Amino acid sequence: MQQERGVLYVVATPIGNLADISARAVQVLSEVDLIAAEDTRETLRLLNHLGVSARLLACHDHNETVATARLLSVLEGGRDVALVSDAGTPLISDPGYRLVAAARERGLKVVPVPGANAAICALSAAGLPSDRFLFLGFPPRTRSRRRAWLGEVVDEPGTLLLYESAKRVMETLQDLQAVMGDRRRLVMARELTKRFETFLVGCPSELVARLESDQEQRLGELVILVEGRRGDTDAGGSAEQERVLRILAEDLALSQAAALAARLTGAKKNRLYRLGLDLGLGAKGD
Ligand code: SAM
Repeated sequence: MQQERGVLYVVATPIGNLADISARAVQVLSEVDLIAAEDTRETLRLLNHLGVSARLLACHDHNETVATARLLSVLEGGRDVALVSDAGTPLISDPGYRLVAAARERGLKVVPVPGANAAICALSAAGLPSDRFLFLGFPPRTRSRRRAWLGEVVDEPGTLLLYESAKRVMETLQDLQAVMGDRRRLVMARELTKRFETFLVGCPSELVARLESDQEQRLGELVILVEGRRGDTDAGGSAEQERVLRILAEDLALSQAAALAARLTGAKKNRLYRLGLDLGLGAKGD
């Protein structure tokens, strides 16, 4: 007779407020044979709070290949495993993809146990359009790569969702302004579900000014939401339009640069002119 195989549960945990754990997550965590955790110490804190004792195995970016092999053999051996990350939903800017993909490839049963996710939590209360959105995860850390990365989504009409560390948030806000202009509404959702939960709303330069004047706003965990492109009323241009405009504005007055860039890219001259102003390219005579 064929041995029954185990189930892999992908379990979401709170992103701050421990009361957000679901009753089903607690039940699964208490019943599985093994918990695969991004950071076993972090998960132990949660389990102690819940009064659950369990066997833990570390599964993070640096050991995912070895841990995956081990976990697959546990599952093949008929034992159930729960995958958790430090906070929120595993795999979402967190480890676990390889394990889930490998489990599915082998025909193992994979069961989601849903719960908190910082991006969706932020979107649900930000007041930006939620009918269409694009989750981008963390931006690259260097300025040039970050700007190129933002340039790829400048034409996206849906709300953009970004994770960022408090350490780099100022630079990322400045790059958002440089690449998308200063007209879009941004929401910075900080410390969600925690004591100092804050939603800051404004265009990029307003948020930069707010963070400059209030150091508290540069602490903790945060999600940045960016209003999507709004057709011709949006001063943001595509990465290519901006590139052409920047080159021409090096030698020409902005009005001439915008007129020429409009002929080269097919964009409207007025929009490129406004984009140039937002990008601070308007110093040469207009
Ligand atoms: N898997 C997690 C999820 O489902 O949201 C995300 C993990 S990712 C490594 C951590 C990032 O999520 C943080 O840098 C921050 O951008 C965001 N984040 C996590 N908790 C948050 C919170 N309480 N408030 C705001 N952002 C949070």
